[in-house]
Amino acid sequence: MNDTIGVVNKLMEELSRLPGIGRKTAERLTFHLLNVDIKEAHALADAILEIRKKVRPCSICFNLTEKDPCSICSDTRRDQSVICVVEGPGDVSAIEKAGGYHGLYHVLGGALSPLEGVKAEDLTVDHLEERIRKGNIHEIIIATNPNTEGQTTAHYLTVQLSPTGVIVSRIALGLPMGSDLELADKVTLGRALADRQVLSDSEKNG
Ligand code: ZN
Repeated sequence: MNDTIGVVNKLMEELSRLPGIGRKTAERLTFHLLNVDIKEAHALADAILEIRKKVRPCSICFNLTEKDPCSICSDTRRDQSVICVVEGPGDVSAIEKAGGYHGLYHVLGGALSPLEGVKAEDLTVDHLEERIRKGNIHEIIIATNPNTEGQTTAHYLTVQLSPTGVIVSRIALGLPMGSDLELADKVTLGRALADRQVLSDSEKNG
């Protein structure tokens, strides 16, 4: 009996380690998993192992990739002087699908959230600063989500990047507040990028 409890607790513990999953959710997921068909359990376990083996974050932009650097970072036809900063890999695919953007990306790995305890050091901000320091970056387009966390992150980045001298712009927030960039339609997303507003331009400000 103790063994059984041990195994169940182990799964609960592993699940509660995942971001956004508290003890209650871990418990609910565990009970759900206890009832899934063995095939389904294998499929889930295999999928986790497979991404762990094959997919990794690009060492430059942190987008998910099977080869490093990713196909976007290694594409010399793209504009190497513009970086579009997004929260997650899903945002990269959404912007790529919308078309019209030919610069590079930087995936933050989330957004600042005091409520969920996400701090700047949990994101890839320092890597972004390093990219700016190293390369001939002219503009940073902040394309975090139009919600509280995304806005907080955009503000933080503007302040943080201002000493680097690059132009910092923010996608137009024609997107409804609280919405998810990833779910925006192509036209809206394309327009949000095209109508971006400059937040900080040290060249202009002197
Ligand atoms: Zn990359």
